[in-house]
Amino acid sequence: MGYLADFSYLFFPSYCAGCGYALYKNENTLCLKCLIALPRAGIHDFPGNKLEKIFWGRAHLESVSAFLYMPRHGMAHRLMHELKYRNNPELGVHLGKLFGLELSDSVRMNSFDAIIPVPLHPKKFQKRGYNQSACIAQGIAESLGSIVILDNLCRRTDTATQTKKSRYQRWENVSDIFAVERPEELAGKRLLLIDDVITTGSTIEGCAEVLKNIPGVILSVAALAIPVH
Ligand SMILES: [Zn+2]
Repeated sequence: MGYLADFSYLFFPSYCAGCGYALYKNENTLCLKCLIALPRAGIHDFPGNKLEKIFWGRAHLESVSAFLYMPRHGMAHRLMHELKYRNNPELGVHLGKLFGLELSDSVRMNSFDAIIPVPLHPKKFQKRGYNQSACIAQGIAESLGSIVILDNLCRRTDTATQTKKSRYQRWENVSDIFAVERPEELAGKRLLLIDDVITTGSTIEGCAEVLKNIPGVILSVAALAIPVH
């Protein structure tokens, strides 16, 4: 078995998603050097952190955090590109697991009844073949011993009227984009909503808007990366 594994390694080496060099056989997805160099944000246990401030006055969230800082040309940017555009859903699961391990050590964000990825637009899903936020959610759930709930928080497909509206009007109607299919499944639960990157926060705001109508829901948010300039 070991021999076969070594043999295949000669012909099909895996490459590090961070730096592109071949991985040693005891390495998985990221080489040790990139794993150590991950630009971790480490803000999980800081109430009022820069990510939480984005949502002040916009959404009632228990806690908000991100795994990585993402400067324009840094490693997190490369990883995000690989995850979204290079057909590498496994990278999302792997980074989600690393993120989840960090969260499991945090005080505020170590336990959730369920984890919900931000749904992808159906057209994008068709093109990409996977929802990168669902991959991240799966990895986090594995590390936290929680479950992922898919296909409950949904993106409405009837957005034809949306495209006719001005940019400002679309912003105003962001909460109309999302819907909850089975509210009873989420009632009374402590939920963690997952996105890949948080920029303006309007996507999360739209999701929170529909989730807050469910009785007893306590909502936190975690993103894989937050841009820094
Ligand atoms: Zn590397």
